[in-house]
Amino acid sequence: MQFSDFSLDKRLLETVEHMGFTSPTPIQEQALPVALAGKDLMASSKTGSGKTLAFLLPAMQRIISKKALTKRDPRALILLPTRELAQQVYNQLRLLVANTQYKAVSILGGENFNDQAKALARDPHFIVATPGRIADHLSQKHLYLNGLELLILDEADRMLDLGFADQLKQINEAADHKRRQTLMFSATLDHDNIDDIAQTLLNSPAHVAIGESH
Ligand code: ADP
Ligand code: MG
Repeated sequence: MQFSDFSLDKRLLETVEHMGFTSPTPIQEQALPVALAGKDLMASSKTGSGKTLAFLLPAMQRIISKKALTKRDPRALILLPTRELAQQVYNQLRLLVANTQYKAVSILGGENFNDQAKALARDPHFIVATPGRIADHLSQKHLYLNGLELLILDEADRMLDLGFADQLKQINEAADHKRRQTLMFSATLDHDNIDDIAQTLLNSPAHVAIGESH
C-alpha cells in the first residue's frame, strides 16, 4: 500500500514524500481509513511503529478539507505526557503545516506561561501540549475549545501513569460537542484506567491493535 492510496491532500503527500516515506506502516495503514472517515479510534502499537503520522495525517486532512466550526478556537489539540514527546510530535507537525496556511504551537509545562497566553491569543489551528499546562490555560480562559474538531491523546497509557486523568476529563468537558472526533493512541492497552478514560472520551470508537502479543 502507498500513502497515495488514501484520500490525502496533495500538500500532505508531498511532505510525506519529502520525509522519505513511501508506504505506510501497519498502524498507519489500519488507523488512517478509520480516522479519515471521521470515526473515533482507540489504537495501540509498540513504540517506533509510526503512530505520530497515523494521527497527524488524518488531523491535517480534516482541517484542510472542512470549514472551521468557530472563528478563533483551535481545531486540533494533541496531548502528550511529557515535554520531550510533545516536542517530537510538534516537529513532525511543523513539517506538515509548513506546506499549508495553518498555524501550530506547542504549549508545554515548564515554559513561560505569559508567552504561551500570547501564542494562544494568536489563534493557532493546531496545539501540541502537555495536559497539565493546557488545563491551566483553560482555567485562566486563555483558550476555549468549543470549536475543537479533533482531540488526540498520544501515549494515553503514560498520561494516566503520570496522573493526568483529571486534566484529561477537564479538557474533554471543555470540548464537549457532537462534531468532535477523538483519537486515542497508546503503546499498550493493559492499563487499569484506560477503559475508563476511553469510555469517558471516545464515542463508539473503532479499535485497532497491532502486534498484541497475548
Ligand atoms: P511511535 O509513535 O509509534 O513510537 P513514531 O511516529 O515516533 O513512532 O515513528 C517512529 C519512526 O518511524 C520515526 O523516525 C518516523 O519518522 C518513522 N516513520 C514513521 N512513519 C514511517 C513510514 N511510513 N515509513 C518509514 N518510516 C516511518
Ligand atoms: Mg509516539
